Amino acid sequence: MSDNVMYDSPTEFLHDVAGAGACVAQSVIPRDEGGYVCACSCERWEVVATSREEGLRLAREHTGSSAE
Ligand SMILES: [Zn+2]
Repeated sequence: MSDNVMYDSPTEFLHDVAGAGACVAQSVIPRDEGGYVCACSCERWEVVATSREEGLRLAREHTGSSAE
């Protein structure tokens, strides 16, 4: 095997460094057509909330941190 076995591509390497799908950051972004798009750094979660407050609540539910 070559020394390239750890990472198939630079992209995969960067993704791994970023947390490899970990829920380290969530975003709540207003849409032009109304509502707020909520997304997570894990790239497995994306929902549309009716308000920024709801979006933040959903984000906390997603990450499982009910504290605060
Ligand atoms: Zn997540």
